[in-house]
Amino acid sequence: MNSMPRPIEALIHSEALTHNLKRARECAPDAKVWAVVKANAYGHGIERVYEAMRGADGFALLDLSEAERVRALGWRGPILLLEGAFEARDLELCSRLNLWHVVHCEAQIDWLAMHKTHQPHRVFLKMNSGMNRLGFTPTAFRAAWTRLNALPQVDEISLMTHFSDADGERGIAHQVAVFDAATRDLPGERSLSNSAATLRHCAAANVRADWVRAGIMSYGSAPDFPEHDIAHWKLKPAMTLRSKLIGTQELQPGDSIGYGSAFTAEHRLRIGIVACGYADGYPRHCPTGTPVLVEGVRTRTLGRVSMDMLAVDLSPMPTAQIGSEVTLWGVGPHGEVLSIDEVARSAGTIGYELMCALAQRVPVTVL
Ligand SMILES: *Cc1c(COP(=O)(O)O)cnc(C)c1O
Repeated sequence: MNSMPRPIEALIHSEALTHNLKRARECAPDAKVWAVVKANAYGHGIERVYEAMRGADGFALLDLSEAERVRALGWRGPILLLEGAFEARDLELCSRLNLWHVVHCEAQIDWLAMHKTHQPHRVFLKMNSGMNRLGFTPTAFRAAWTRLNALPQVDEISLMTHFSDADGERGIAHQVAVFDAATRDLPGERSLSNSAATLRHCAAANVRADWVRAGIMSYGSAPDFPEHDIAHWKLKPAMTLRSKLIGTQELQPGDSIGYGSAFTAEHRLRIGIVACGYADGYPRHCPTGTPVLVEGVRTRTLGRVSMDMLAVDLSPMPTAQIGSEVTLWGVGPHGEVLSIDEVARSAGTIGYELMCALAQRVPVTVL
């Protein structure tokens, strides 16, 4: 007989992925949608999300091996390498798999100029419009475009940039102005918006978008939490992390919990021990008070998160016992939602980091 596995598991909600991508289309009805699946689909697993996301117009990612995986799944449509080639020979794979790639620096143009290919490449020329990560400055952009345009290795040139503050107060207007001024008379499709810009700014008439790049919103996290939550943006969690109680304790006043005795009970208190810890990808930095669901009812964590366990307050659910279901984030047993954004905030980070950090040892089921 097989032994019972440790009760933790992650669920991938296919219907939510499809719904969230549809939200990107609603926000940018005239644009094509890149489903951004870098970092193994933000920790969800490229192979696990593929069916639900194949309604996208293309897949955007950075790792060449991830591009190979998307092609291996049978995808014949556009794939965009968001950082382009890392070295000259990467262009061979681009030719072989018909990958579109970003060009953000002179070296990448040099490699293209030396590249032998029968099929010219579709490229996305990237402007640094203020983020100062990758891309040509507005001043250098036109010369880069002219150089690319003269290469027989290059087919169509699209234009892109990336926003630093689409989720915040500063917004995107200053970067849009820079981008527009430098590209006004250049032909080619435009791609500017990430999730935050798609949700918050796509209604702005001046953001011409042929392609939006929907990353985090596809996975059901609000890019501008806590200003807005997923309910506000009508997004659904694409990942649930759930486990069970594997023990309970009755604390007396003065009893403390776990490493460092970080929480001490003031009153009698019944607590549950959950089979989930930082080795599963649950953030160790979550302090006492981080929201968690037990049997779908909201309660809080207590004390320090350890490698394989954490403790929860069972006061709101006196009938909870060993085997009771615990939702760390995502969707509870009766459809209750605990957004990954709330847990992330409690840990001083963002939803992106938590979903990407789901540990290898957690079994995953696709629903
Ligand atoms: C990751 C990435 C995105 C997606 O960003 P989200 O905030 O997850 O929507 C868009 N564009 C580029 C260039 C990226 O690297």
